[in-house]
Amino acid sequence: MCLCSFAALPVLILGMAPWIPRRFIFEIGLGSWPLWRLPSGDRDVALTFDDGPEPANTEPLLEALEGCGISASFFLTGEKAEKNRDLVRRIRAAGHAVGCHGMSHAPLAFRTRAVLVKEVEDAVDLLEDILGEQIFLYRPAYGVRSPGLYRMLRQQGLRPVFWDVMAYDWREPPAEVLVGRVLRGARDGSIILLHDGNGPRASTIEAIPGIVKGLRDKDMRFVTLS
Ligand SMILES: [Zn+2]
Repeated sequence: MCLCSFAALPVLILGMAPWIPRRFIFEIGLGSWPLWRLPSGDRDVALTFDDGPEPANTEPLLEALEGCGISASFFLTGEKAEKNRDLVRRIRAAGHAVGCHGMSHAPLAFRTRAVLVKEVEDAVDLLEDILGEQIFLYRPAYGVRSPGLYRMLRQQGLRPVFWDVMAYDWREPPAEVLVGRVLRGARDGSIILLHDGNGPRASTIEAIPGIVKGLRDKDMRFVTLS
């Protein structure tokens, strides 16, 4: 669901697709500011979950992560956070990092400043109000970015976070397929994109123990992006 449908065109235009070089177009001149991977050398990997919080997915996901004894990073949409304030606080209280994934999950290409304020500034303000702490991380919906969005993120002191491993879990393949994709793609410093919203995520949740075991067998250490 996440990288398809009406967002496909801006995704292609704006170069989010992982096969397009990272500093394509809008990263030029920004140095290493957008985060695509963690520094390598410490065998750190980060699991990240987008599109929540949704109780039906996020609650069992939190149990799965706790069962594995790891912390992850959640990129929440403002509209869902507003409806699930307690769950947002539970995510954070469990030791996970929380970043913003926009207010409504709209792709932010060719948008007016008023839309950017609502999708970035208002959503971050909302999360900060719920959690009582500052939000530093922002993952653009669909990975779509634009100069206007980057300007807004700089003004708000937000770091854009992307990923280098995508398991395509929104297509809901069997859990073992997801485990295989993550284990084949992940390496030292990887940021792994998964989802706990916008559809049933039973496969994603079922895949967590296999992903954790497989990466631990490769001596990887799970870290948050905080
Ligand atoms: Zn998303």
